[in-house]
Amino acid sequence: MGVLDQLKTVLGTKEESRYGYRCMNCQNTFKSREEHMARVSCQMCGSNNVRGIA
Ligand SMILES: [Zn+2]
Repeated sequence: MGVLDQLKTVLGTKEESRYGYRCMNCQNTFKSREEHMARVSCQMCGSNNVRGIA
């Protein structure tokens, strides 16, 4: 594993990664490759009030 791959792992930018989220505002569920929910916003309403789901 090269330095760049390690950096991608740390930053959670691997394209094949998918994380499920539920919006607490509109109950929409969606997937994102962003693993940090603090940086995820709802794809329906744009709210940042989302929770990770398995
Ligand atoms: Zn929403």
